[in-house]
Amino acid sequence: MLSLYPLTVLAISLGAFGTKISTDSSVASGRTFDYVVAGAGLSGIVVGTKLSAQGYSVLLIEAGKDLQNNSAIYNAELRGTLNDNPATDCNWHYVASDQNGTALPMKIDSGKCIGGSSSINGMVWYRPTSTELDALESLGNPGWNSTTMFPYMKAIEHNHPPSAAQRADGAGLVRSHHGFHGLVNVSFPVPMRIPAAQAIYKAAVLLVFGIPDSPDLSARKNSVSASTSWTIWWDPVAQVTRRASAAYSLLYPESQQQDTLTVLAEHTVSKVIFNKDMKATGLEFGSVIDGVLHTVNAKYEVLLAAGSLATPPILERSGVGSKSVLKSFGIKQLVDLPGVGLNLQDQPGTGLSALVQPANASSPLIIDNRNLFAPVISLLNIDELFGNDSTKFSVQLQNNIKVRAKAAVAIGAEVNIKGATELFTAVTNLITKDKMPITELVSESYPAVMTSVFWPLVPLSRGHIHINSSDPFAAPRVTPRFLSDDFDLKVAVQIAKQARALYQTAPFAPIIAELVVDAVAVNATDAEWAAWYTSTAFGASHWLGSSAMRPRKSGGVVSPTLEVYGTSGLRVVDASVMPFQVTSHSMSLVYAISQKAADIILASR
Ligand SMILES: Cc1cc2nc3c(=O)[nH]c(=O)nc-3n(C[C@H](O)[C@H](O)[C@H](O)COP(=O)(O)OP(=O)(O)OC[C@H]3O[C@@H](n4cnc5c(N)ncnc54)[C@H](O)[C@@H]3O)c2cc1C
Repeated sequence: MLSLYPLTVLAISLGAFGTKISTDSSVASGRTFDYVVAGAGLSGIVVGTKLSAQGYSVLLIEAGKDLQNNSAIYNAELRGTLNDNPATDCNWHYVASDQNGTALPMKIDSGKCIGGSSSINGMVWYRPTSTELDALESLGNPGWNSTTMFPYMKAIEHNHPPSAAQRADGAGLVRSHHGFHGLVNVSFPVPMRIPAAQAIYKAAVLLVFGIPDSPDLSARKNSVSASTSWTIWWDPVAQVTRRASAAYSLLYPESQQQDTLTVLAEHTVSKVIFNKDMKATGLEFGSVIDGVLHTVNAKYEVLLAAGSLATPPILERSGVGSKSVLKSFGIKQLVDLPGVGLNLQDQPGTGLSALVQPANASSPLIIDNRNLFAPVISLLNIDELFGNDSTKFSVQLQNNIKVRAKAAVAIGAEVNIKGATELFTAVTNLITKDKMPITELVSESYPAVMTSVFWPLVPLSRGHIHINSSDPFAAPRVTPRFLSDDFDLKVAVQIAKQARALYQTAPFAPIIAELVVDAVAVNATDAEWAAWYTSTAFGASHWLGSSAMRPRKSGGVVSPTLEVYGTSGLRVVDASVMPFQVTSHSMSLVYAISQKAADIILASR
């Protein structure tokens, strides 16, 4: 049976009405729009559609393709096949480097098609806590707090409350923490995934960490363990679980068509164009295929929404950044803004598994081979993770703030000791005083094994990202510096050891055949665990911080109105403005940031 969905898509591709999606540079080259936006990912689509809905002409320029008909993108459960076909691949596959610029074996995933990372992400949906959002305001960002940001998270969400059958299999909902009238569908899968395995994991988490099962990840005050909801919806006509990316939710649907909105795909923004007063007047862009560079003019503003790994390089190519970086690539410095590309963060994860007894390996209640990542998520605070050592580590954290700040500045990951101290003080207080979770444990199963994936949740390690060439289309140098902070490494080792302990609890005894801990012996030392973790770590893909919203004197890149310091008519509206990690996955946060950005822009007109 056909769903109505492909009809919507067809209408847009023909350009019959509404939003224009094109790969022809002439729709933008030499033209003028009220607003021009770099990137048609999550934040670009949110901001672009909100501005065009008010009658402003908006152009989004997206480096990647329009892959709306790619089943690996619209069918949430085909996510695992996303990278199989290079022609329909929606991923930058950035290379990670060490401090010396040597490539690391780790590749970095980041969405490269309309919808950006929301087109390829894990779709896990839950919110940060009010405590951490309020900490954002305390870093010098008036108006950015839980009272102003939670309403945006509610406004965008269309929650489908779990059915009785889903609740029986682990789902829950605290209605006050969700929205029911937004455009982004949020739900539990139909049917629920691996309910027996979920129950076993929850029982083991209670035994090892003392955290009981909770109805709703979003309704936590700090730590929590609960079944996961995703940005998905069950399409009963097509009988598929559909991904609710920013593009499928806000851009493609027939009801969202806007004559004032144009999306130019397969064109890369190289830089921002400024007039002599440092007002942004447009963007330079081109196609990697012919290499020809064009310009487009912005009547009102230029908005950067290329994400944490692409917005800083655009700023640097435009002459906004630190002198030493720009000079090494022959770029004239227009604004001295050394914070561009610094303070980069993601959460370094890895995992370990236990082999399931053959009799259980074929039970879909334990192993279903469906591809919706992370059916149970547990967030653990410093007490739950370290037990009796918690106080000792809390004292060390508080005492070492200055040392940590100096080290981050010395390595080129923070601008100055004052700013780094403010930042590390805020994060340290979240960890030690507010008891925000410091690690995430994801409980999963794959054919023949039960698997735990885990990462430090609010890392203190800081990396950086900069241009690596004067070529406008060249990839940046991404230096994550994962686990370079000793506390992050302690958290990593402890959660890995505790994850193994999960499988040794009574709930697992009837179903586990053997522990499979790649390359780490049962009696491994902490140093061996650390070596294993470091060599297997990958990014959880929640990159942020690289164009941080902080005071300029503290190393900030944008003001609380998201304007790039030293310029006018130029704002950053994507994940890169968030100065520290939150204890949820980042989508809900970025939906809030970008909606608030649009309202700030509209209010300024
Ligand atoms: C693999 C993966 C899994 C994830 N899982 C989850 C999850 O389960 N839950 C969750 O909450 N979050 C998850 N995230 C994170 C979440 O998707 C991001 O935080 C969010 O999409 C960031 O939004 P953004 O607008 O900043 O960037 P993006 O959504 O990445 O959009 C940036 C866009 O800009 C485009 N672009 C880049 N450079 C240029 C240029 N020079 N010119 C033109 N266009 C350009 C890119 O192609 C992209 O389309 C995941 C991310 C990834 C990559």
